[in-house]
Amino acid sequence: MDFLPIFFDLKKRRCLVVGGGDVALRKVRLLLRAGATVELVSLALSDGLQVMADQGDIIYHPGCFESIMLEGVVLVIAATDDEQVNRQVHAAATAKQLPVNVVDCPALCTFIFPSIIDRSPVVVAVSTGGASPTLARLMRARLETLIPAAYGKLASLAEKFREPVKKRFATTHQRRLFWEGALQGSVAEHVFAGQSQQAEQALQQLLDAPEAPSEGEVYLIGAGPGDPDLLTFRALRLMQQADVVLYDRLVSPQVLDLVRRDADLIYVGKACADHAMPQAEINQTLADLAKQGKRVCRLKGGDPFIFGRGGEEIETLAEQGVTFQVVPGITAASGCASYGGIPLTHRDYAQSVTFVTGHLKDGSFNVNWDGLLHPHQTLVIYMGLVGLPSLCEQLVARGMKSSMPAALVQQGTTPQQQVYIGTVESLPELVQKHNVKAPTLVIIGEVVQLHSKLAWFKPDQVVA
Ligand code: SAH
Repeated sequence: MDFLPIFFDLKKRRCLVVGGGDVALRKVRLLLRAGATVELVSLALSDGLQVMADQGDIIYHPGCFESIMLEGVVLVIAATDDEQVNRQVHAAATAKQLPVNVVDCPALCTFIFPSIIDRSPVVVAVSTGGASPTLARLMRARLETLIPAAYGKLASLAEKFREPVKKRFATTHQRRLFWEGALQGSVAEHVFAGQSQQAEQALQQLLDAPEAPSEGEVYLIGAGPGDPDLLTFRALRLMQQADVVLYDRLVSPQVLDLVRRDADLIYVGKACADHAMPQAEINQTLADLAKQGKRVCRLKGGDPFIFGRGGEEIETLAEQGVTFQVVPGITAASGCASYGGIPLTHRDYAQSVTFVTGHLKDGSFNVNWDGLLHPHQTLVIYMGLVGLPSLCEQLVARGMKSSMPAALVQQGTTPQQQVYIGTVESLPELVQKHNVKAPTLVIIGEVVQLHSKLAWFKPDQVVA
């Protein structure tokens, strides 16, 4: 190990920065975040530093660096573009045994700055020992995705309960087991969901009765339209801690691959008329599993609250007092539009967008036709394949121009994505000709013509 990672308490301690440019500014910001008293010496100041000096955030000494300035200082940074000055600062600081960092010059550093993930009070520091700051930044970016933003809050809550937990459990082993449970279970989930009061209550309950069987809960998760890269961080985290996963046909195999390896998987259907499990039974199964203490992940294609019957599922949970949370997902309209190069709104073509279900009820559409015919809007039709001929016919019969651009996006966002472009009149024919199958999203509106210009995701496209 070339450098020992340590965390330095700089609150109200004097640090000297030599240099007045943007590099110095970045270091000053870091020092200020750590609560340091920053003194800065430089012949001139960049605009950002000038503002800080004017506001009294830093103490500015105009002029040249002199060794005397190191009196009472605990840490020194040289950030000038003058190599000689940097060397002089380094020499003066090391003569006084002061930690010194010369920016971009590892040979003259007795300490270096890591890449930082700040979830204060949780702080993660990554360093490559100066070998490759870019690699450190890339690692940082990966870690950022793994560490929920609210980890800091979780740590603060844990700190609050540190003493009571110490009193309650005699051995470190018992304490460790307690904290492992608390920091991964419902307490943590409440914190991540922004419910700090419930988190504190849950932690108190755990502390009062740690033997009580832990209550299960349901995560209603939007799995997005197919590409696993479109999952949210929260979705992924909950998928990886669930004991049991109920999923339906729209959830792609690649997304399903990301659930916890040893979770039980239950397929609950639904191709249009093929319900592996009736809706009421799904609702009740979710509640029952949670009541057995399981963490239940209900994975749904797209967003659970957009034509996903998510509302019904959590209604049952709410009625039966089961804890749940809902994780939004990227709905098919957003996914298919982006990956198909069709902006749903556009200054010149569409000022609104309407999502409708093309699902037929008793063989007819239950839609507000006038609403669908407003000009300058984009229509997105979910579950529209079966009723498509009738839908298109009626749109034209009621006044939509038959040349209105229209698109079919089949298996959007997946490697199998196909986009078929036509008009409201030719859509049914396209379905026939290319044997288009579900899941397919229908987009109707002037914005569709932008596809030829903006399409970027081209796994294997057919443009008719
Ligand atoms: N809750 C889902 C929609 C469920 S309704 C969401 O927010 O996306 C099912 C319909 O969604 C399908 O019939 C199809 O019209 C559309 N759909 C879902 N995923 C799709 C995909 N990857 N490509 C195209 N259409 C999709």
